[in-house]
Amino acid sequence: MKADAAAQQLLLDLQKLDTKAAQLDHRDKTLAQRVALDELKVRIQRIHDEHVAAGVIAGDLERDQARADSDVEQVRERATKDQVLLDSGQISDPKQLLNLQHELQSLARRQGELEDVELEIMDRVEGANAAVREFADRYAKATAEGAILQAEVDELLAEIDAERQNTIVDRKELSARIPADLLALYERIRVDGGGVGAAHLHRGQCQGCRLQLPPNEIEQLRATPDDEVVRCEDCRRILIRNAESGL
Ligand SMILES: [Zn+2]
Repeated sequence: MKADAAAQQLLLDLQKLDTKAAQLDHRDKTLAQRVALDELKVRIQRIHDEHVAAGVIAGDLERDQARADSDVEQVRERATKDQVLLDSGQISDPKQLLNLQHELQSLARRQGELEDVELEIMDRVEGANAAVREFADRYAKATAEGAILQAEVDELLAEIDAERQNTIVDRKELSARIPADLLALYERIRVDGGGVGAAHLHRGQCQGCRLQLPPNEIEQLRATPDDEVVRCEDCRRILIRNAESGL
């Protein structure tokens, strides 16, 4: 294939743009802040679940406590009633009096037991509420961290996108100045060649595959007209010759 030597040089600029576009895509995909944000989102979800679970436990315990409070209250009311009756002097039957005194003793015992239960539940409610507060705190901190990280990611992606748009515009402009057949050849090689379609021949070395051309091939290239499109023997990429090619 033949192509104007100046047009062939443009392939190196085009290659730079394509390499830049590939780097931008890679940067987009592997953005450390986004990886961190994805991890943080998983952590936030976990904290949220733990917060909800702790809230359920605290709610159950609070219901237990209300029940324990009411149990104690019932026994206390009954004892008060009995005490009032005892103090009123209305009961004169000794057997009845004795029964009443026994009941008061047994109610006092019962009240003591229920109050122990009540205290134990109160302790547990306190512990459960502390856990709820801790999860709420951790959730708030993590979501605040997430918002900062999200803003960073958005900003970086906007930067990448802006650069990408510039690259697209530049590429369109540059492609228009390259003959269609040369451009098509470049595109085909680029797709097959891991993103590199054209390589500079620098001091006898192909910059696409780093092959140092043997002296006889360099000699051969020296005799090849400038408008002849040459390919690397090894990687088959278009070799771009210029003043630094060592020819
Ligand atoms: Zn090569």
